[in-house]
Amino acid sequence: MSNITPERADLLIHASWIVPGNTEDLVLENSCLVVSEGKIREILDSSVVSSRYQAEKEIHLPGYALMSGMVNTHGHAAMSLFRGIADDLSLHTWLEDHIWPMEAKWVSEEFVYQGTQLAIAEMISSGTTCFADMYFFPDASARAATEAGIRVQLATPVIDFPNPWSVDADDAIQKTTVLHDEWRNSELVSTAFGPHAPYSVTDEPLKKIVMLSELLDIPVHMHVHETAFEVSEALRTQGKRPITRLAELGMLSPRFISVHATQLTDDEIRLLSDCGVSIAHCPESNLKLASGFCPVDKLMRAGVNVSLGTDGAASNNDLDMFSEMRTAAILAKACSGDAQALPAFKALQMATINGAKALGLDHLTGTLEAGKQADVIAVKLDELNTQPVHNPVSQLVYSTKSSQVRYVWVNGKLLLDNGELTTLDKETLLQMARTWQQKLGTPT
Ligand SMILES: [Zn+2]
Repeated sequence: MSNITPERADLLIHASWIVPGNTEDLVLENSCLVVSEGKIREILDSSVVSSRYQAEKEIHLPGYALMSGMVNTHGHAAMSLFRGIADDLSLHTWLEDHIWPMEAKWVSEEFVYQGTQLAIAEMISSGTTCFADMYFFPDASARAATEAGIRVQLATPVIDFPNPWSVDADDAIQKTTVLHDEWRNSELVSTAFGPHAPYSVTDEPLKKIVMLSELLDIPVHMHVHETAFEVSEALRTQGKRPITRLAELGMLSPRFISVHATQLTDDEIRLLSDCGVSIAHCPESNLKLASGFCPVDKLMRAGVNVSLGTDGAASNNDLDMFSEMRTAAILAKACSGDAQALPAFKALQMATINGAKALGLDHLTGTLEAGKQADVIAVKLDELNTQPVHNPVSQLVYSTKSSQVRYVWVNGKLLLDNGELTTLDKETLLQMARTWQQKLGTPT
């Protein structure tokens, strides 16, 4: 009897299951995500959608689960070109004897642009819709990200010593403010300061970063307490643990993202909680470099926001957030000796909304809720390894392979269409990667 004219929408996505990610264990069955002007309009039961909306495009995905795109909160995208070049080494040997010399020799704007394109293609294909990137020539990364249509936060590397992008820390800080200004109105790009680590940046530039990050209201993203060696060296040379030093400098705040944090005392966990710091947990990089174990269960019990990052492909060696999420979930249980630590839904939130919160982007992304940007992935659960679907959240965390991500949208724009990239050309990227493989393999 109703004569209400259906409203116009841009896109209707029907799926067997929708996991909004904001309410514990909520799974909506046979529902539809309504997208208008790049945003999520609402989620409705599929049976009532046709009387309410008319859309340009409508897609039916039986056997699929929709969830928020993954938020990869720590990485060095262009290092994908160094994948497999220096394996099975401890962090400091890997970094000082292999990675830094390779970077000094090879990293250029072109290297970063092409390496970031390769990384973005891998990330979109495996369900990531937003990533934080700490690397040189961030303008090139921003260009690669905006062309591909993926969301990025550029954490510009601030390091005391000369590198391919900056002559010293002050130069990097100045370049960051320019970059922030250039991209401040972008729909996809945001900026952050990325002081590399306590051992590679002195007090004066860190004080400037504290002041400027407050002024510009942007995050600070830093490797902190990655290894026991980092902490013992700081104690030997400066007489204090790095977190104590950062606290004295005024660095610890809700804007601060502490990457790794494998060495934490109970007092430090309380301090991080009191200051509202976020942790970017990178379990696979920490495992591969034998850096240590982040005490995720203790941090979360203390109310600290813990997000998830892959780190660069040179220390992981992939950018697969599904694999990272599963590793995080099972490692938290092993480390705490408690099988109830980091249950599936909390692990899913760690890979999505907690990441958005860490980057200060949770008003835009991280859950499927009305008003947020349509950063959505569709995962095909109709595969042998994810049947039967007693519990879609359990399947997504413990059983899904990232190749089951078949559709990806960012801001409502389709970036992966039944497994095919729409904004990047896979063959061109493979050819480009082979060219770098030859160049990097050339003896000096
Ligand atoms: Zn890193």
